[in-house]
Amino acid sequence: MLIDTHAHLDSPKFDNDREEVISRALEAGIDTIVNIGFNRETIPTTMALAEKYPFIYAAVGWHPTDAIDMRLEEDLAWIERLCNHPKVVAIGEIGLDYYWDTSPKDIQHTVFREQIRLARRLNKPIVIHNRDAHEDIVKILKEEKAEEVGGIMHCFSGSPETAKKCLDMNFYISFGGPVTFKNARVPKEVMAQVPLDRILLETDAPYLAPHPHRGQRNESAYVRLVAETAAEIKGISLEELSDITSKNGRRCLSLTR
Ligand SMILES: [Zn+2]
Ligand SMILES: [Zn+2]
Repeated sequence: MLIDTHAHLDSPKFDNDREEVISRALEAGIDTIVNIGFNRETIPTTMALAEKYPFIYAAVGWHPTDAIDMRLEEDLAWIERLCNHPKVVAIGEIGLDYYWDTSPKDIQHTVFREQIRLARRLNKPIVIHNRDAHEDIVKILKEEKAEEVGGIMHCFSGSPETAKKCLDMNFYISFGGPVTFKNARVPKEVMAQVPLDRILLETDAPYLAPHPHRGQRNESAYVRLVAETAAEIKGISLEELSDITSKNGRRCLSLTR
């Protein structure tokens, strides 16, 4: 059995065949999916999925690219209320994105810091989105004492050194499609170095499909392809790798089933 710790199955890209996508995941042995609601539109659609399917959990938070749209006080209170829902297992995805130039850095920083503070107050793990912002991510996580709650560095794209700093702050390192790409030297190197008991797997579906589906729509069933790569890098069987990463996910997110 496998966990997809990061998916966006509420995306309109699944509007025509969402049921089939979800049954294919179950058939492929994915028994738990964490769907991520990250702004005003996707938080309600994520909650709807989590309420409909017993094996789908929710993470809710405000994405850095949408930081400019957040009504800070009001939306923090909204996220706080949702965190009382039994299917909400984390706050996220939150973080910094210096690639897409949609929200100014200072606003991203405020929104990120406030959500870490909320997570510490509620004792919820956080799911971190980081694009081209490795240094500032580590700095803010440190300054805001994120190690008190820990969480997931989603689709980790940093160096082994950055991974080490995140491990030291109680984070799990999550790998997605990019680690399966032929030219993925650094992600493979990071995976080789991260201890087995701190590795998680994800798809980020519909984005970042693994090899050999690169460039196509991604779906949760493909987390198996990420698992195969991980088993190869770690030199263990797929069964053992699946078992360990599933336990990691349950521990990290305090999943009950
Ligand atoms: Zn992300
Ligand atoms: Zn995502």
